[in-house]
Amino acid sequence: MTTRRGFLTGAGAVAAHEHTHAQDHDHEHQAAPSDVTLRVKALESLLVEKGLVDPAALDALIDTFEHKVGPRSGARVVARAWVDPEYKKLLLADAAAAIAKLGYKGGQGEHLVVLENGPKIHNLVVCTLCSCYPWAVLGLPPVWYKSAPYRSRAVIDPRGVLHEFGLDLPDSIEVRVWDSTAELRYLVLPERPSGSEKLTEDELAALVTRDAMIGVAQVQLTKAGGKA
Ligand code: FE
Repeated sequence: MTTRRGFLTGAGAVAAHEHTHAQDHDHEHQAAPSDVTLRVKALESLLVEKGLVDPAALDALIDTFEHKVGPRSGARVVARAWVDPEYKKLLLADAAAAIAKLGYKGGQGEHLVVLENGPKIHNLVVCTLCSCYPWAVLGLPPVWYKSAPYRSRAVIDPRGVLHEFGLDLPDSIEVRVWDSTAELRYLVLPERPSGSEKLTEDELAALVTRDAMIGVAQVQLTKAGGKA
């Protein structure tokens, strides 16, 4: 049941910041998670016990987030942008409209901004306050994304963080760190790997990892040795 626990942790983190924190940064709400997780579990037990919530409905919801909504959606968006310049232009100008074209809506997708990585710029995404994340295209965030060390160090020492993910960028590439909020969720459009010219859109999508779309990795031509 670790996956279930993971979802509940995520749900707790989300519940903790559904207020807007763009204009209000002087409060501290990062101490909550483990306590929140317990409270969410207690709440679920109570609701089920009183017959207010059907556990099967909850499981279906969790299944949706774990298996149907996930980073494969983002990978399809990235691959389309790599093969279709018009789509890429739309994606960078109006990400919500672009992902809706591939059928991805909701999950705060309307607040999505896409950041393009290139030979001179590498974008890295974090939520320093909690765990804001582009659910519509990446599903639920990984545990490390919500961890205090990642959230603080991504801003202070982005190259050190990238090094720990196995990515060492030359000084000639500028690293830009983007802090997500409830109103702005970022998706990184990774650089298309050289040598991938003959691959089909589906083959390209298969190369794109979740980590590359957060900006802690680059897309490799072969996934072997990559950090999927
Ligand atoms: Fe957040």
